[in-house]
Amino acid sequence: MQEQQIGTAEYNIIFDHQNEILKMMALEYDETIILDKLCLIQEEIAENVIGSILLYNDSGETLSVLAIPTVSDSYRLSAEQQFDTIEHFAASLDMNACFSLPIRKDSDDVIGFFVLLSSKQCQVNEFQKLLLQTGATSAGILQNRLKLENAFNTSQQRLSLMDTMFDNLGEGIIITNEKFAIVEVNAAFEKISGYREMEIIGFDPKIFSSERQDDAFFERLWSELKYSGQWRGEIWNKRKSGETYPQWMSITDIKDAQGRTTNYLCVFSDISDIRESQEKLIYMAYHDPLTGLANRTKLFDMLDHIFKRSQRIEQSGSLLFLDLNRFKNLNDTFGHAIGDIILIHVANRLREVMRSSDTIARFGGDEFVLLLEDMNDHDAVLAIAKKIRDALKEPFEFNKHRFSINGSIGIARYPQDGNDSIVLLKYADTAMYQAKLESDHICFYQSSMTEKLHKSLMFENDMHSAVKNGEFEIFYQPKLDAKTLVVTGAEALVRWNHPYRGRVYPSEFIGMAEEMDMISELDSWVLQKALEDLRIWNKMGGSHLSLSVNVSGRDINRKGIEHLLSIIEAYPELKPQLIFEMTETFLVQSVDEAVRLLERLKKTGVKLAMDDFGTGYSSLSYLKRFKMDSIKIDRSLTRDVVTNPEDREIVKAIVALGRNLNLEVVAEGIEEMEQLEIIQECGCDELQGFYFDKALSFEAFSEKYVRGDDA
Ligand code: C2E
Ligand code: MG
Ligand code: MG
Repeated sequence: MQEQQIGTAEYNIIFDHQNEILKMMALEYDETIILDKLCLIQEEIAENVIGSILLYNDSGETLSVLAIPTVSDSYRLSAEQQFDTIEHFAASLDMNACFSLPIRKDSDDVIGFFVLLSSKQCQVNEFQKLLLQTGATSAGILQNRLKLENAFNTSQQRLSLMDTMFDNLGEGIIITNEKFAIVEVNAAFEKISGYREMEIIGFDPKIFSSERQDDAFFERLWSELKYSGQWRGEIWNKRKSGETYPQWMSITDIKDAQGRTTNYLCVFSDISDIRESQEKLIYMAYHDPLTGLANRTKLFDMLDHIFKRSQRIEQSGSLLFLDLNRFKNLNDTFGHAIGDIILIHVANRLREVMRSSDTIARFGGDEFVLLLEDMNDHDAVLAIAKKIRDALKEPFEFNKHRFSINGSIGIARYPQDGNDSIVLLKYADTAMYQAKLESDHICFYQSSMTEKLHKSLMFENDMHSAVKNGEFEIFYQPKLDAKTLVVTGAEALVRWNHPYRGRVYPSEFIGMAEEMDMISELDSWVLQKALEDLRIWNKMGGSHLSLSVNVSGRDINRKGIEHLLSIIEAYPELKPQLIFEMTETFLVQSVDEAVRLLERLKKTGVKLAMDDFGTGYSSLSYLKRFKMDSIKIDRSLTRDVVTNPEDREIVKAIVALGRNLNLEVVAEGIEEMEQLEIIQECGCDELQGFYFDKALSFEAFSEKYVRGDDA
């Protein structure tokens, strides 16, 4: 079956034909002429079909042909014959295919069939079906009228016959007098509009007006009606409930023999379903289904519009390119359903923060583009960008998880940065990449960035091959006993010896490796290499040394710990010396899962340290649940203990806490004598920092702290 949407054009055709038939009925055309017309209408619409109407004979068992206008009269005359079935009828005309719809009396009893015949396979689409249905209804009404007419031939009955006809039609009908006072409506009208006939008789149909159309619309309507005797089109009216809805309407001017208007006949369909599906299609074409924000198409439309306009008048504004930091991670860790919820949440926060006149578009994945028209003042735009960034940061809870979203925002402004939508988007995107590297995560576009961006992208590419090419190297920073200042171990810190950029520090690539899903590869490499180094140190007499290795909590969340376990198993004798350092930020995102994994890790005999303590949640309960062995006080606290008494109190409190929970407390980042003294006073167990030594190459560390000890 051929699918065809029934749209306004199709309704138009149906209305046209229906009007014609109604007029013929009203003018009391001969029944055979009207029935022939019904058949001819079908033949006009569908190619190579023959329309015909068959009625049951009084016995109700056989069918006789009532109308078949295109087949010669001789056939019609000889067709006094009767048929048992439609198929017999079709066969008598050498037709191979037929499609039929029943003709009903009073919408119940089947009194005959409207039949389309074809010599080929008969394809009937939705529109033809509807047309056939209206034809069958008309034929049914006509038969009804005839039967009743034969019984009582008075004008009074005829009037009630018109009622029957009206009430059998699916379209609403309103008849007014020449002064636009409603004189009659049909049942379909009542059903569609919600008004009862008696409520609106005598009123002007203006009472249905929705005020969606302006005066000019009605002026056009009346002039067309006056000029051509008919108006047809879409109009929005109000139901009794107050709800407005679209109608496809035809108004016909009915004149008497002298050419004076006596009535207006208005026939309409409720096309809200069609409109709704059309609107839905339009909506879908321009919106992101997940968040309901504008999509790329809409954004580009808006931009095109602006920059076309701006050739005439001076336009200004800004484009903000927002990218959620590490969204990919959240998605991988918690699953796409949570990822979707986060995106919806972000969309809602953006809606709250932005003006209603701003365009908020989801550009793709976790990227959003915000268009601020008439706003390009540096400080004003910066204030908005900050507002957005802070609104996203505001934690929100879902399923007992707390999420806090960090976004990076790149800003390009017009006209100063450019006057072309593609170029501006590119610039905003470039600035966004730069924003990711900056502490406040907001960055305005500058022409110097294009080159820089190019480099950073290369950098990302380089990383894929870096492990394979042996470009990573581990440096070891000594850890000392706080009382004796004897070296007790080392922390493995990775460096990247980039072929062009030279030595690159973790702050520049760990985040990227996490985002690129390469962190477990990197961490595995570090662990493996560090254990190999430790084995050598042990042989050199360094078996009293502990070895701390950093692992990404994000990695644990996402990949589990299998990769770590399989490596440790190859170095069973080193397990008691090994300490895994991790930050709590990612562990707390799925606490139960993390607890389970860390328990397994601990069972192997390694120790766990909470890194960067004092910067994140620093929650006591987490420390206990994660079964940590030690905490490392973040160097931001150590740094200020000399000048800031508050930080000193915090350090003291952390030490006390550690004592209570039976945890070792390590202070990192000690750079000066004064810091050392205060930290010692606070009662920390172990120390680390440039004051003692920076991270050293394997050889340098071996030389200085392993062999030295041995000696
Ligand atoms: P972290 O684990 O907190 O490591 C301590 C960082 O502080 C190291 O920086 C170290 O060089 C630095 N540091 C040590 N003493 C001082 C000091 O007295 N003053 C100052 N200002 N800094 C000091 P680095 O090596 O740049 O590492 C940064 C972070 O990168 C580490 O922080 C760790 O979270 C991460 N990281 C390093 N190596 C790895 C690794 O192999 N895997 C993973 N996942 N992360 C790593
Ligand atoms: Mg560390
Ligand atoms: Mg640290």
